[in-house]
Amino acid sequence: MALIVHKYGGTSMGSTERIRNVAKRVAKWARAGHQMVVVPSAMSGETNRLLGLAKELAPATPGAGHYRELDMLASTGEQASSALLAIALQAEGLEAVSYAGWQVQVKTDSAYTKARIESIDDERVRADLDAGRVVVITGFQGVDEGGNITTLGRGGSDTSAVAIAAALKAHECLTFTDVDGVYTTDPRVEPDARRLKTVSFEEMLEMASLGSKVLQIRSVEFAGKYKVPLRVLSSFTPWDIDIEEEAKSGTLITFEEDENMEKAVVSGIAFNRDEAKISVLGVPDKPGIAYHILGAVADANIEVDVIIQNLSKDGRTDFSFTVHRNDYARAVDLLKDKVLPTLGAADIVGDTKICKVSIVGIGMRSHVGVASKMFRVLSEEGINIQMISTSEIKTSVVIDEKYMELAVRALHKAFDLDQPTA
Ligand code: ASP
Ligand code: MG
Repeated sequence: MALIVHKYGGTSMGSTERIRNVAKRVAKWARAGHQMVVVPSAMSGETNRLLGLAKELAPATPGAGHYRELDMLASTGEQASSALLAIALQAEGLEAVSYAGWQVQVKTDSAYTKARIESIDDERVRADLDAGRVVVITGFQGVDEGGNITTLGRGGSDTSAVAIAAALKAHECLTFTDVDGVYTTDPRVEPDARRLKTVSFEEMLEMASLGSKVLQIRSVEFAGKYKVPLRVLSSFTPWDIDIEEEAKSGTLITFEEDENMEKAVVSGIAFNRDEAKISVLGVPDKPGIAYHILGAVADANIEVDVIIQNLSKDGRTDFSFTVHRNDYARAVDLLKDKVLPTLGAADIVGDTKICKVSIVGIGMRSHVGVASKMFRVLSEEGINIQMISTSEIKTSVVIDEKYMELAVRALHKAFDLDQPTA
C-alpha cells in the first residue's frame, strides 16, 4: 500500500463520460489498497472559455485589480471538475471529498495568473486519507497571504500535482494525459520517434524549456527540487487495464542514472518554431554594449534566448539574439527608436523564419564529439547553421525554418534514436 497522486489533464476530464472513466481508474487504484489523492485540470476548453469571457468585458489595458479577478474566474474551472470527480467517485461507491486550494491550503505568493506555490498544509488531507477517503484537490490554484485566490499559470495543474505529491511524500505522482509518455521527438515530425521508458529529470527540464509541451516546466523543476518520482502516462488506455502493467507504463522521470542501462548519449531532439532572430550590425566593440542592447530589451519585458556576438573588425562587431516571435516587432521597433540612435550602430536586421533544433542528453557530459556530430549531420543535409548555443547536456542550433523537419529527422536517425535501447 502506498500514497499515490494522480493528475488528470483537461482532455481526460473533458466530459461526464470521461470523468466517470477517471473515477473508475482511481477506484481501481484505491481498491488495490492505495491511499489516493487526485488532482484534476478543468474540463478541456473551460479555462479558455472563462478567460475569453473576461476579454470580452475588459478594455485593452486593464487596470489594477484585473488579474486578481482573472484568477477568481479561471480557478472555477478546476473547482467544478474536482467536485464532479468527487461525485463520480462517490457513485463508484468510494468515500471521496474535494477541496479547493484555499481549503487545503495551497499557499502561494500574490503574483496573480502566475503565482508560485510556497507551502502546502497536509494535515486535512492526511486526516481524510487515514479515514479511508479519496481526496480530490483542485489543480492550478492556490491562495495568497491575504486570502485571495491565485492561479499558477497555464498548464499549472501539473505543478499542483507534483507539489502536493512532494508535501505528502507520495510514493509516485502519475500524470495522466493525452499522450502515452515522453518521446525521443515529436512523432508528428518523425514517425519513428520512440517513447522513452525513463528520462532523467535534467533532460526533461531541458526538453520542457526547449519546446516539449508534455509537462509545465515548473512542475519538472518542482519534481527535481523535491525528488518526486513523476510518471507521464496515457489516460486513453481502458480504465480496467491491469494495475501492475499500468504502474509500469508511460515514461518515468528519474533522478539517478541507471547503471544497469547503457544510456544513449542523446535522449531526445527538441525543436521550437516560436523564435525570431534580430541582428544589430556594426556595433562599436566596447564595454557596456551587450548591456545597452539587451538591457533595453529586458526593460520592455521581452525574453531573450540564444545570443551571439562576433569577433570585431576595425572596432565594430555584429550582435545577434533571438526572441519569441510574438515579441519580434516590438523588439525591433524598440531597438530602432531607442538603441540605434544612442549606440551608433549601423543597422538592425531580423528574420522570423527561423527555428531552433536541440539535441538533449546527459550522456553529453561524458562523451566528446557529440556537438560536432550534430554539425556534421546538418552539413551533410546542406543545412546552414546560423547560431549555436550549448549547455552541459544540450546543443541547440538556429537554422532556417524550412529545414526544421529535415534536421529533426536526420539527427534522430544519426543518434540512433529510432533504435530500441537495451
Ligand atoms: N486549466 C488550466 C489551463 O488550462 C490549468 C491546467 O490545465 O493545467 O491552463
Ligand atoms: Mg497540461
